[in-house]
Amino acid sequence: MLIVMKFGGTSVGTAERIAQAAELTARSAAEGHRVVVVTSALSGVTNQLIAAAESAAHGDWRPEVRGQIFERHRAVVDALLGGHPETQRAVLDAINQRLDRFEKLCFGLSLVHELTPRLLDAISGTGEMLAAPVLAGAIAVRELKSEAIEATGLIVTNDRFGSAEPLPVETRELARSRLFPLIELGVIPVVTGFIGGTIDGVLTTLGRGGSDYSASIIGAALDADEVWIWTDVDGVMTANPTEVPEARTLRDISYSEASEMAYYGAKVLHHKTILPAFRQRIPVRILNSFDPAQQGTRISVEGRPSSRGVKAVTSIRNVSLITISGRGMQGIPGLAAKTFAAVAQERANILMISQASSENNICFVVNTSEVTRVVRALRSALELDLMLGHVEDITADDSIAVVAAVGDRMKGTPGIAGKVFGALGEANVNVIAISQGSSELNISLIVAASEAACAVRAIHQAFELEKPAQP
Ligand code: ASP
Ligand code: MG
Repeated sequence: MLIVMKFGGTSVGTAERIAQAAELTARSAAEGHRVVVVTSALSGVTNQLIAAAESAAHGDWRPEVRGQIFERHRAVVDALLGGHPETQRAVLDAINQRLDRFEKLCFGLSLVHELTPRLLDAISGTGEMLAAPVLAGAIAVRELKSEAIEATGLIVTNDRFGSAEPLPVETRELARSRLFPLIELGVIPVVTGFIGGTIDGVLTTLGRGGSDYSASIIGAALDADEVWIWTDVDGVMTANPTEVPEARTLRDISYSEASEMAYYGAKVLHHKTILPAFRQRIPVRILNSFDPAQQGTRISVEGRPSSRGVKAVTSIRNVSLITISGRGMQGIPGLAAKTFAAVAQERANILMISQASSENNICFVVNTSEVTRVVRALRSALELDLMLGHVEDITADDSIAVVAAVGDRMKGTPGIAGKVFGALGEANVNVIAISQGSSELNISLIVAASEAACAVRAIHQAFELEKPAQP
């Protein structure tokens, strides 16, 4: 198999973790797989770089930051490569070169005081460029050939600095022509996650946490057999274990279940992240580098639907319910359009919508951080309707949470909603509003925030999600 393996920040956070990442890579190579590695920066480094850029932009550049970052990497390099002076020297040279560039950028910034998105990318992308030579070195001293590769010349993106999008055709061509010759020679490439480059070679970043995206983009470009995301959790769980202690890791989920769950706050890959792999039906595994014996979660097209219908229950907090109500709303066309246009103009994201057919109210959920703005915008957009009495009230309730039950096989299975509401009734949880999209992959409910954990537990129990699923 050709496997693209990504190691997240905590999986390369210390010498010990990097040794483990190298070991996991070597193990797959020994099993006869061809491996391409994608690495994040050492945990915390990206934050440190961004903080340095921000203070430099205020004229406050402290050169000791460079020293701190260097010392952290040097200690790791000494521990990993101490017995291999040549590799050790080469890796330290590479790190120093990258830090020279970082220092010059920050120094310049402290004079001009203008932190453009382009400059911020050039600085914040440094962490991966420091990590890749270290991990490549750690692989190389295991009697394997390995080479650090900077993704500026591999993942071609547009110039939306800070959240650049890959150009698939160009990326495919470049990634294949650069990586396949290495793979043919038995070299394990260690590619910097998080960064890419424009057609002109200007460094871009794919957004915070972007290394998962890098792995999926490279997997798609190479037509890899699988993409493995090594992280610090066992995989995707049936519920948040702090809410439901008996929650279990799911062995298989589908892309659509993964994106529903990610949306509803579970720790899963973001929808955008898995899209390149999904388009090519490449399975993505989430694995725990701290406990590699665990099976992890496999995300694929089929995803092994469970006969229970529901596979996971999630909750989102820090959201608010906005309700527009009035007995005069019945039969007045255009109210919904005006409402949602006003929300869109505020660039606020709507998480859930519900309107009963009596049309006496429209309610929807937005992030609490946006609620004041949205309500103000609504009052002005619906001013006339308020005056005419069509709309009587616009209210916001911050004390709610959204609970969602997710599963592919909910589609077309009767009785799921009945069971969800039965469980909530028995647990004495009041349901404030309900929404189910016609995709039927998800039933979302609004409950009081104080009752959300209880609601999640009740649904989890009703569908016996603590027990392994029978297909
Ligand atoms: N190092 C980058 C970040 O912290 C990318 C990543 O870790 O995925 O956002
Ligand atoms: Mg990270």
